Amino acid sequence: MDIKKILKENEFVFKKKYGQNFLLDQNILNNIVNLGNITKDTLVIEIGVGAAALTKKISEKAKQVLGYEIDLNLKKPLDKILEEYKNVDVIYDDFLNRNIKEDIKKYQYKNIMVVANLPYYITTPIITKFIDEKINVEKIIVMVQKEVADRFSAMPGTKNYNSLTIFLNYYFDVKKAFFVSRNVFYPKPNVDSAVVVFNKKQEKLKLNNETHFFKLVKTAFTQKRKTLKNNLIDYDLNKVNNILKTFNKDINQRAENITIEEFVKISNELSKEK
Ligand code: SAM
Repeated sequence: MDIKKILKENEFVFKKKYGQNFLLDQNILNNIVNLGNITKDTLVIEIGVGAAALTKKISEKAKQVLGYEIDLNLKKPLDKILEEYKNVDVIYDDFLNRNIKEDIKKYQYKNIMVVANLPYYITTPIITKFIDEKINVEKIIVMVQKEVADRFSAMPGTKNYNSLTIFLNYYFDVKKAFFVSRNVFYPKPNVDSAVVVFNKKQEKLKLNNETHFFKLVKTAFTQKRKTLKNNLIDYDLNKVNNILKTFNKDINQRAENITIEEFVKISNELSKEK
């Protein structure tokens, strides 16, 4: 089935604001789908169905695919493209406005995986939404622009390491899987991409108080160029310094040099007495 032809027949107009660059390379599509051990017990939530190149491949492996597509103009071509794919439902709406629990309650499945190829500005809100709504997702596979992928998987001490990295790495083991050239998309975007895999952490770090931890981390990164001493003025700096000393560090360091485990230790100690 020629996707370009179907889009043309339906006079589909690509919208830049929705990041509509469709992936057509069969090898890369296969590689993405093979990253998730999708089985006939898996419900796959796909965000941004586009012309369904990925959706069709996922459908062959999964029990059920629930896709979201913001652009209602894709409904007509998608009805045709997905005619034979009985285990695929598409909801035409902005995924960020949905109640995921409500949407998935009619399905039977053993595990949930999420697959998405999206514009960069929506990727973090999407991942955060799954966390906030407490959806038990085993794996999230996202394709994002290369620079965003670097931020997700950044190591302490590098310029891309920030509070988002810590937030995401608290819930997931984050791994960059492979690089994808801009040349395999239609139409061709201005940036290269990379595929990132988020695997749910089997054992989460032991936190006394999640809210305290995330506030501490956010505050520590308020002004990236400043030291902890300057960013954490509302915290017991003596205590913070003493804890950091056990890691051969101190409050004159910047947050970008503090590991997630060290932040956990600081937060646990500070929230103990409250
Ligand atoms: N999955 C297809 C592929 O790999 O070829 C399409 C990927 S394309 C980069 C992103 C798709 O996400 C577009 O079809 C766009 O309309 C859709 N999209 C963008 N923002 C969305 C949102 N908030 N909710 C649902 N779909 C969205």
